[in-house]
Amino acid sequence: MGHMFDAVCQSCQHRFTANEGGGFHFELLRCGTCGTSKGVPYRTIWNSYLAYLKGLKTRMPEPNGADWRQYPGEPISKEEYRRVLETEAGACACGGTFSVDAPLRCPACRSEKIERGETKILFD
Ligand SMILES: [Zn+2]
Ligand SMILES: [Zn+2]
Repeated sequence: MGHMFDAVCQSCQHRFTANEGGGFHFELLRCGTCGTSKGVPYRTIWNSYLAYLKGLKTRMPEPNGADWRQYPGEPISKEEYRRVLETEAGACACGGTFSVDAPLRCPACRSEKIERGETKILFD
């Protein structure tokens, strides 16, 4: 489950709201250059998502209804799944690329030194 929280940049003291983690309906990626986040809905990559789950052999269907047992194809690795997500997310307006493990950055100065404040909203 994803959440939003107050964040304060330790480099320039800029305050902003950040979000983190995907939800039941999407994966959250971040631009490696500017830190902008972007959600990729599972529905747009559904077969790859099922193929990835098939590789994990999860015991239960996911809360969003995904069940790899219904997927007839070959499983894919986490690396392949990440490539699918990153391709689907495309390029950021700043010219950077979105990635699943890019760090949170300050939108003002792009510093990675972020202090986390209170969690405001949980979303799914
Ligand atoms: Zn960017
Ligand atoms: Zn900053």
